[in-house]
Amino acid sequence: MPGGGRFWLIVLAMLTINWILFSQFSAPPERLSVSYTAFVAEVEDGNVAELVSTGDTIQGTFATPIADPSPEEDGSGEGATYDLFETERPTFAEDDLLELLADNAVEVNAEPADAPAPLWQQLVFGFGPTLLLLWIIFSVFRRASAGMGAGIGGLGRSKAKRYELGANRTTFEDVAGIEDAEDELVEIVDFLRNPDKYTRLGGAIPKGVLLTGPPGTGKTLLARAVAGEADVPFFSMSASEFIEMVVGVGASRVRDLFEQAKKVAPAIIFIDELDSIGRSRGGGMAMGGHDEREQTLNQILTEMDGFTGSEGVIVIAATNRPEILDQALLRPGRFDRQVVVAPPDQRGRAAIIGVHTRGKPLGDEVDIEAIASSTPGMVGADLKNLVNEAALMAARRQHEKIAMNDFTDALEKVVLGTERRIMMSPEERERTAYHESGHALLGMLQPGADPVRKISIVPRGRALGVTFQSPDADKYSYGEEYLRGKIIGMLGGRAAEDVIYGTTSTGAENDMVQATNLIRNMVGRWGMSVAIGPVAVFDERSTDAFGRPQVSEHTMRLVDDEIRRISDECYAAAVESIENHRGQLEALAAALLDKETLEENEAYEVAGIVRDP
Ligand code: ADP
Ligand code: ZN
Repeated sequence: MPGGGRFWLIVLAMLTINWILFSQFSAPPERLSVSYTAFVAEVEDGNVAELVSTGDTIQGTFATPIADPSPEEDGSGEGATYDLFETERPTFAEDDLLELLADNAVEVNAEPADAPAPLWQQLVFGFGPTLLLLWIIFSVFRRASAGMGAGIGGLGRSKAKRYELGANRTTFEDVAGIEDAEDELVEIVDFLRNPDKYTRLGGAIPKGVLLTGPPGTGKTLLARAVAGEADVPFFSMSASEFIEMVVGVGASRVRDLFEQAKKVAPAIIFIDELDSIGRSRGGGMAMGGHDEREQTLNQILTEMDGFTGSEGVIVIAATNRPEILDQALLRPGRFDRQVVVAPPDQRGRAAIIGVHTRGKPLGDEVDIEAIASSTPGMVGADLKNLVNEAALMAARRQHEKIAMNDFTDALEKVVLGTERRIMMSPEERERTAYHESGHALLGMLQPGADPVRKISIVPRGRALGVTFQSPDADKYSYGEEYLRGKIIGMLGGRAAEDVIYGTTSTGAENDMVQATNLIRNMVGRWGMSVAIGPVAVFDERSTDAFGRPQVSEHTMRLVDDEIRRISDECYAAAVESIENHRGQLEALAAALLDKETLEENEAYEVAGIVRDP
C-alpha cells in the first residue's frame, strides 16, 4: 500500500518499463550501411541530398531511395528500400570529399542527424505516462478518502477530526444529568493538567478510559469536555472509519492518529463505536473484513501498550455494547477504566434541558420540570433535539419567546412523528378508531400499566393512528406482569379489529413485531418462561461463528414453542378483555371519530375508568 516498501518497488518497476518502452519507440531510424566506395558512387550520381558527419562517420539522405544491395541470406529485408544511409570514411582516404560534395550540390548540415532527443523530451516521454497514471490513481483514492491526509500517501493517514482549543471549547458546564460519569472523569482532567503530580509518586497515568452507555447519552460530549477542561487537543474518530475502505488501511490510520496525538501531547484521542472493531474475536464473526478489524484492533492495542505513561496521551473510547468487547481491550494498561454513562433521570433531564435552553428566550410559563417528567427514557441527544424543535416551532409561530405549548407540540412531534395530511376513507378511519381504542382500552385496564397519555387517529409518519403511553416515573426494571400487560396492550389493536369486524388488517403489523420481540426477550434473555427456565439463550457473548446462539436445536424449538404459547395467551386475554368491555371500546371509538385526538383525562373519562390515585 502507499507508503510501504513494496508499493515503491512497484512504482519503480512501472517507471523502468515506461523508460524501456520509450527507448524502443524513440530508437534511431534504420539506416542502410553502405561502403565508402558505394557512397562516393552515389554522390557522383547526384543521388545524395544532404549529409552530416561526426568524425569519420557520415550519415545522410538519398534523393531517391535505393534497394539494399546485399539483403540477408534468409531473404529478410529483401525488396526494402532506404533513403537514409550511413558510412565510414577511411582515415587513409585522401580524396577531396568536400569538393566532390560541392560539385554535386550535396548539402552539408551541422546538426547531427540522429542526435538524442533533448533531455526534457526524454524525461517527459520516459516517465510522464507512468507519473500521470500514478497521479490519477492517487487523486481517485484521495477523493475517496476525502478529508485530511491529502497528497501521496494520504490513504493511510487518519482522518481524525482535530478540535482546536478555542473560545467555544466544550467544558463540564455543557454536560448535565450524568454527574456520576462526570465525577469519574474529573480525575482524568487533573492527570492531564498536572501529570507530574502523579508520576512523581510513581503512579501510572491511565492510558485508556472506556465510556459505556446507550447512544445519545453524551459520551462524545463528555470526552470533548475532558479535553476542553484540560485544555488539550482532542482527536476524534469513529472506529468504523478505520476500516471503511481499503484493506490494510486501518492499522496505518491508527498509527498515524497516535503519531499526530503524540506530537501535540498532552492530548486526548477519542474512538467512537469501539465495538465495531473491538468485538471479541472468538464468536460473532462479521461478514468479511474480519482480518482488517483484527489488524486495526491489534494496532490500537500495540500503540497503547507502547505508551510509557509519560506521553500524556489518553485514549477515551465509547461503546454502547461493552459486553461484546474483546477481553484483551479491557486488560490493565489498556481500557482498564470503565465509566458508565447512564440515561438521565428526571432531575438529570431537567438539567440537560436547562443546558440547551441556556441563552434562548423562554416564556415565563415554561415549566422545565414538567417537560422533564413527560420525557421518560429520553437521553441528552433527544432532549437537545426537543429543545431545537420547540425553538423552530416558536419561530414558525412568530412567538417572541419559546412558549410551553411550543414544547408540548414539539414533544408530540418528536415522540409521535409528524402529522401527515392524507385522506382516509370513512371505513379506514373507523377501523383505525377501533384499533387505537383497543390499544388504549387495554392499556388503561391492565393493572400497573403506563398511563395512556394520548390517543389519536391523525396519521403520523407511517402510522394511521397512535396511542401513547408513558410511565409516571422512570422505570429501571420491569416485572413479568408488567411486560405481559404491555404485550396485551400491543395486541389490543388487532384484537379490537378482530372482535368488531371479525377480520384483521395490515395496520397491526408493527404491533406484532414489537410484541414478538418483547416475548422473545422474556423467554430467551430474562428467563420468564417456565419451560426454558433461567437460561440465557440469546447472549451475544456466546454465539457461534455465524452469530447464532450456542444452544441445542431442542432448546431453540422450545424457545419457539414458548414464544408461541405466550403470544397466544396474551392475544386470547386481549380478545377476552375487549369482548368484556365492548361498550367502553365503542365509546372510545365514537369519541375518536368525533374529535380525532383524545388527551389523557378525556380518554379515561370516555372509557369510564377511574384511576387509582
Ligand atoms: P453519544 O456519544 O453518547 O452517542 P453524544 O455525546 O454524541 O452522545 O450526544 C449528542 C449531543 O446530545 C451532544 O452533542 C449534546 O449536545 C447532547 N447531549 C447528550 N448528552 C448530554 C448531556 N448529558 N448533557 C447535555 N447535552 C447532552
Ligand atoms: Zn396498533
